Amino acid sequence: MINRRKYSIANFKMNKVESETTDFVNKLNNLINRKTKIKSIICPPFTSLHATLLTDKVSIGAQNINSNDFGAYTGEISAKMIKNLNVDYVIIGHSERREYFKETNQEINKKVEIALKYDLKPILCIGETLEQRKNNEVEKTLKKQLSKCLLGIEHDIIIAYEPIWAIGTGETATSKIITEAHQMIRKILNDIGFDGQKISILYGGSVNRNNAKELIALDDVDGFLIGGASLDVNHFYDIYKFIEESF
Ligand code: PEP
Repeated sequence: MINRRKYSIANFKMNKVESETTDFVNKLNNLINRKTKIKSIICPPFTSLHATLLTDKVSIGAQNINSNDFGAYTGEISAKMIKNLNVDYVIIGHSERREYFKETNQEINKKVEIALKYDLKPILCIGETLEQRKNNEVEKTLKKQLSKCLLGIEHDIIIAYEPIWAIGTGETATSKIITEAHQMIRKILNDIGFDGQKISILYGGSVNRNNAKELIALDDVDGFLIGGASLDVNHFYDIYKFIEESF
């Protein structure tokens, strides 16, 4: 069995001011044991990126970047700006960005490309709507998202499988659904030129400390992208511990 890297990633979304993020990272840093094998990444809003303490135990990620290198894009933040703050990761293609900001697979592909150009590791989010699941279109949807978002990309990325119907709803996907989807994703990755067995695939969608233990026991789950439950450092740490104990 290939030992893929395991991740515990917090997506704060539009929550926490700078002092709250710093407080969170300080507390988490004290809780995490020194020899951790898990990569913990905190993705706060842009305004907290510079203030956040970078440590050998906690890494920092952005929640988005613009798809262009630089220029007249008022209000936007580039990959180069993020990298300049010593950030190493960026979430790309989150379903909230696809839905509210109309991000397309083509634009997401440009974001993945520019992130890699500046040595930021993309955490690429994919996942189906409830309607697509009901219409038996899960495989078709994941195939389309992966082939378009990763067109021309050769570097390894992190994938987060986030069924849209499970995000922020309290409705977690079942173990069966997650296993099927993650295996499907590995096969699609193989088909488009990656080594699917080597790529870490995280699950995201209403993960909390009550369901994390069961979900991390699944062979194909390499960690979590956590929204709501990541806002409380003790909850996030409990989930992190389940990942660590799963080794
Ligand atoms: C997310 O926003 O990526 C997410 C998984 O949110 P939640 O955990 O709140 O469902």
